[in-house]
Amino acid sequence: MIDNCLGAQRSRKIQRTLRHCKVTILCLVLTLVVLRGTIGAGKFGTPGQDFVEIRDHLYYRKQGEPHRVLKEVQTTSSDNHDGADTNAGTNNYNEFDINKILIDEEPDVPKRDPNAPYSLGPGISDWDEQRSRWLQENPNYPNFIGPNKPRVLLVTGSSPKPCENPVGDHYLLKSIKNKIDYCRLHGIEIFYNMALLDAEMAGFWAKLPLIRKLLLSHPEVEFLWWMDSDAMFTDMAFEVPWERYKDSNFVMHGWNEMVYDQKNWIGLNTGSFLLRNGQWALDILDAWAPMGPKGKIREEAGKVLTRELKNRPVFEADDQSAMVYLLATQREKWGDKVYLENSYYLHGYWGILVDRYEEMIENYHPGLGDHRWPLVTHFVGCKPCGKFGDYSVERCLKQMDRAFNFGDNQILQIYGFTHKSLASRRVKRVRNETSNPLEVKDELGLLHPAFKAVKVSAS
Ligand code: UDP
Ligand code: MN
Repeated sequence: MIDNCLGAQRSRKIQRTLRHCKVTILCLVLTLVVLRGTIGAGKFGTPGQDFVEIRDHLYYRKQGEPHRVLKEVQTTSSDNHDGADTNAGTNNYNEFDINKILIDEEPDVPKRDPNAPYSLGPGISDWDEQRSRWLQENPNYPNFIGPNKPRVLLVTGSSPKPCENPVGDHYLLKSIKNKIDYCRLHGIEIFYNMALLDAEMAGFWAKLPLIRKLLLSHPEVEFLWWMDSDAMFTDMAFEVPWERYKDSNFVMHGWNEMVYDQKNWIGLNTGSFLLRNGQWALDILDAWAPMGPKGKIREEAGKVLTRELKNRPVFEADDQSAMVYLLATQREKWGDKVYLENSYYLHGYWGILVDRYEEMIENYHPGLGDHRWPLVTHFVGCKPCGKFGDYSVERCLKQMDRAFNFGDNQILQIYGFTHKSLASRRVKRVRNETSNPLEVKDELGLLHPAFKAVKVSAS
């Protein structure tokens, strides 16, 4: 009886336990279904995968919502190429190594026969005719945008790769900002090149194939203004005296005696020059290019240049020395169309200018362009984007900041601000705000300068 009683009790207990277990299993299954619905089935839907996902799901919950969202974006976009990378490491730009994504590609063009003469492109001998026909057929793209105001394209550029030190790229940015400002004020268009169009013409020779391509593609451009990336405008008010060059095709900063008599390698500078679009330009580019190809040709030509030119150090052929050499040896061919300018600084050597800025501010004003207020300050030899320069990095970067701020003050004054000093990034107000903004005139008249005005034909 007792046994029977105990047996019945036990069987009820077992049944109750079984019922509880059923409910528990049902709950578990329901939980699984709900969780899978929330986070999606695993790739293969295996229990193992489910477990991993549930664990991850709970783990991310613990980390807080924003993080979960971030992780989910990363997970779901693994096969989406414009999404974040699942395998990517850090989100911290400060600790990311740029070399991870820089692919050093080999040039994919077949090597040229080194014995064949170098050429910038297919020969063209009737460019003047082709161009004037185009200009006639396209009256909406005149090569002069006003009387004595040629259409000008300012061309500059830098290597396709990041600078050796990231700060170099910051100075490239300052330098292009400076050029944008000058060009906006003077109605000049800008082309910034970062492509190496011809692998053989790397470095300072890269400008030659680029210039030729731009002249041929833009017949509407009358003058192309090449400017190095390490040169900055320091006189925002100076307009180039275009009228003076009406009979010239090539304007560089330089001195006739130093080029033609002394054959001095610094008798002219090729960091900032004006080249008129036309057959003559194509011809001088062809005559200029042969010393450029990288390797043996450039090295051997460097020896010739060092031997033939005054004071030239020993190094491979550079575009500037090659130009001095070309003009000095073929003056009768090119000389009459070359204007070596030195009445203002189309190029100004930074070493003699930057320490005098305060003195210039004290005594003069923008618009003069010469030693009193230089149009361009060029940081020859500084190489802010390269590995090594000829001067201390600290000195170069400090002086580049001063040149930038000196030029930028002329822009900021238009809006009533100025840099706190030539060494400072920070600015201060020089005018109070007004409720009649259109009555305010900027000191230099740069807000609506005459050289920027365009004549609009009545429609
Ligand atoms: N440059 C370029 N692509 C390159 C390297 C240089 O366009 O890959 C340009 C850049 O504008 C640079 C100019 O070539 O300013 C000439 O070089 P750099 O100014 O360093 O020579 P320097 O004036 O010091 O003789
Ligand atoms: Mn330069």
